[in-house]
Amino acid sequence: AKQIKVSLIGNPNTGKTSVFNLLTGLNQRVGNYPGITVEKKEGVCKLNNGTKAHILDLPGTYSLNASSLDENVVIEVLLNKKNKYFPDVAVVVTDVENLKRNLLLFTQIKDLEIPTILVINMADRMSRKGISLDIPTLEKELDTKIALISARKEQGIEQLKKCIEQYATLSQAPCLDPLSFEPDYFSRLQKAFPNQSLYKLWLVITQDVNFRKVNKQEITIDPDFKIKTESELKRLQQKETIKRYQFINAVLKKGFTIDKSTATGFSAQLDEILTHKVFGYIIFFMI
Ligand code: GDP
Ligand code: MG
Repeated sequence: AKQIKVSLIGNPNTGKTSVFNLLTGLNQRVGNYPGITVEKKEGVCKLNNGTKAHILDLPGTYSLNASSLDENVVIEVLLNKKNKYFPDVAVVVTDVENLKRNLLLFTQIKDLEIPTILVINMADRMSRKGISLDIPTLEKELDTKIALISARKEQGIEQLKKCIEQYATLSQAPCLDPLSFEPDYFSRLQKAFPNQSLYKLWLVITQDVNFRKVNKQEITIDPDFKIKTESELKRLQQKETIKRYQFINAVLKKGFTIDKSTATGFSAQLDEILTHKVFGYIIFFMI
């Protein structure tokens, strides 16, 4: 029977490996990617409908504007349809306390048109931080299914499995609002390649990824589209980042609230205090 391929993607320390362990249990193995020393963890998860999902725990990455070996592994898997790990479903794991920063990568993955589920992890930390989420609104605005989970408390994993089951039958997903900065350039690019994902084209240009690998066919990108200088490339990538954060801020304004006054309990106080170190220690010994 065909296995569903699932990639776990996210910033470092969001809980990917914890989620991976919960999904795969003892059905896992650790190795390296060919030729490099980046750790590769893969395993199998049995879904409730009986199908098996192959789970890949990808190295932590902040964005797809790759600069490190780890990030290159992620790009290679996600851009190359011929890669044996190219996912049917991408699961982006985020930390509820760092949602804004973590969502940058989510918007990029979504723009690759791979069916993408958003995991918001560390739900156990919400109440003492005074965080509340409007999940239906976030799902609508981000055009995705969300699994709110706590890997530490082993909560929400069944819901995540259900989402994976559902998404495995989609073959393509809509992107968000990719690359609406620099409209002239990108509309020319899209016209030149009407059947290609715009964000993929952009990564092929900026990350120097081999187009044949990505598309199973050689397509020549007109030199006219190449970015001429390093500083021009930086400028455009910055514009992309700003654009994405504007989008993310607008979404979070609708579906994420943090109320410091409801953050109660000794541990919340302790967190607050410890963030003001020296001053904190004094108070700490007083209470
Ligand atoms: P990765 O770098 O994304 O693979 O993250 P890990 O799975 O290694 O987890 C990073 C840290 O977050 C570890 O200390 C975990 O124990 C902790 N962690 C993971 N999931 C949760 C959670 O649901 N709640 C809390 N409070 N901590 C978590
Ligand atoms: Mg990890």
